[in-house]
Amino acid sequence: MTRDLVTDTITIICPSCGTKLDTPRCETDPPNAVTLRGIRCGDCDNGGFDLPEFFDTNGEPVSGDPETFAEHK
Ligand SMILES: [Zn+2]
Repeated sequence: MTRDLVTDTITIICPSCGTKLDTPRCETDPPNAVTLRGIRCGDCDNGGFDLPEFFDTNGEPVSGDPETFAEHK
C-alpha cells in the first residue's frame, strides 16, 4: 500500500462555480486520485446526472473503475 502518499480527503471542484470542497475519500475513489471534477456543489446541483472524473497529483485522468485501478497496486 502507498497509503502515506495520499491524503484521506479528495478535493471536489464544482464545474459550475469552481468551488473546491475537501471531502472524505470514499472506498470507491481511486487510491491515487486527489481531485474529483464533474460533481456540482450543493448550490449548483441541478438534479441532473453528473459523471465524476478523477485526477491524480499530476493532473492526469484516473480511471474511476475499481477493476482498473486495482491492477496498479
Ligand atoms: Zn457550485
